[in-house]
Amino acid sequence: MRLMLILYFAGALICCAHSAGDSVPRLLLVSFDGFRADYLETYKLPHLQEFIEDGVLVREVTNSFITKTFPNHYTIVTGLYEESHGIVANDMYDADAKKVFSQFNDSDPFWWDEAVPIWVTNQQQGKGASAAAMWPGSDVKINNTTPHFFMKYNFSVKFEERAERIVSWLNSSEPVVNFAVLYWEEPDASGHKYGPNDTQNMGRVLEEVDKHVGFLMNKLKAAGLWDTVNVIITSDHGMASCSAEKLIVLDKCLGRNNYTLIDRTPVAAVLPRQNKEVVYNLLKNCSSHMKVYLKEEIPDRFHYRHHRRIQPIILVADEGWTIVQNESLSKLGDHGYDNALPSMHPFLAARGPAFRRGSRLGALANVDIYPAMCHVLGLAPRPNNGTLANAKCLLADQWCISVPEAVGIVIGVFMVLSTFTCIIIISKNRVVPSRPFARLQLQSDDDDPLIG
Ligand code: AMP
Ligand code: ZN
Ligand code: ZN
Repeated sequence: MRLMLILYFAGALICCAHSAGDSVPRLLLVSFDGFRADYLETYKLPHLQEFIEDGVLVREVTNSFITKTFPNHYTIVTGLYEESHGIVANDMYDADAKKVFSQFNDSDPFWWDEAVPIWVTNQQQGKGASAAAMWPGSDVKINNTTPHFFMKYNFSVKFEERAERIVSWLNSSEPVVNFAVLYWEEPDASGHKYGPNDTQNMGRVLEEVDKHVGFLMNKLKAAGLWDTVNVIITSDHGMASCSAEKLIVLDKCLGRNNYTLIDRTPVAAVLPRQNKEVVYNLLKNCSSHMKVYLKEEIPDRFHYRHHRRIQPIILVADEGWTIVQNESLSKLGDHGYDNALPSMHPFLAARGPAFRRGSRLGALANVDIYPAMCHVLGLAPRPNNGTLANAKCLLADQWCISVPEAVGIVIGVFMVLSTFTCIIIISKNRVVPSRPFARLQLQSDDDDPLIG
């Protein structure tokens, strides 16, 4: 009897903990690095298609300049342009602090602390705990906080292990995890190696990525989370083909003692050691396949000027071109180029109770993902560069009308109005039917023969 009572109360406790978890909206954000938007059309990806069918798809996400991994992953989770969050490249130098950042030396909070990622805000606002599997920055103490559960970055940890950890954390009831991030290095790594147009190799890699999507979906289903957890699958950037014929060799234009190369290609960050104008002029005449900007000349549309870690001169290679000092080409694909290029754009798909079903959007900026995620989680967003209204057509609880719907409504209203106008005009101009006999009655002389 006693045992039965204990079992009953234990069951009730577990049940209550679970229903508490179910009452808060939950969100899992997944990034497959370097997943170019048009891979979705080029390759057969059955699991991803199944995921999309049931949810929303943004065909092209306009990412942020420069279109590199660390900067864009931080933009997605902060809603800030790179000049605002401070992760302005994968390789950085901070002249004030005299510190260097790289993917092998990225754990100093100093680099990240100018922004607050959503996993920190989520915990600070007391909505629940956050969990992370290797998203850039998620193993760093930002604002003195890490996600409640996280994994130290290690590229050799398999996707399956990362996904299993994330699903088990999402299943935790003490504490309730309402927000999680999951990162995977492919198809970026293979995109660099083979180039995005190597359909044979990229097809194989994307089949693998698609299997990972299937694995994650099955794990969520098996854990009973599939109907309650909102899932976003997206990426940081696309990939362009590079070739040995498209090299910009800096050594041909200026001596290495003139400058320090902080970041290399396809956006090179140049710190002049000599007179800045001299270095600038030498670079300006170096190649017709790259733009050379003084920091203050960088176009507004890049939102990439107002940060001390942006170097005094920036070189932006044209699509497919590689900036080297004198090295040979080491990769057949690259990204980082102008964020207006379709080849640099990733996609976004989302499904779950917070998202519409079957909604399709042409484009969305990646700064808009953050306010949408805050909305889903019920968080007050931190100041950011995104606009929730741009993401309304993704969200189930928002009133949104798509362009085809708007065109349909305008045409419909126009047709109704023109029909009414026609009816009014016709009825006003209606010709009174001619009455030939009336006129005959008026002509008195017609009656003459009868009178006579
Ligand atoms: P890139 O293609 O140069 O923009 O950078 C992508 C690479 O960054 C990946 O292949 C990973 O090796 C590396 N990377 C991704 N996330 C992290 C991280 N959290 N810490 C260190 N390196 C990372
Ligand atoms: Zn990347
Ligand atoms: Zn890459």
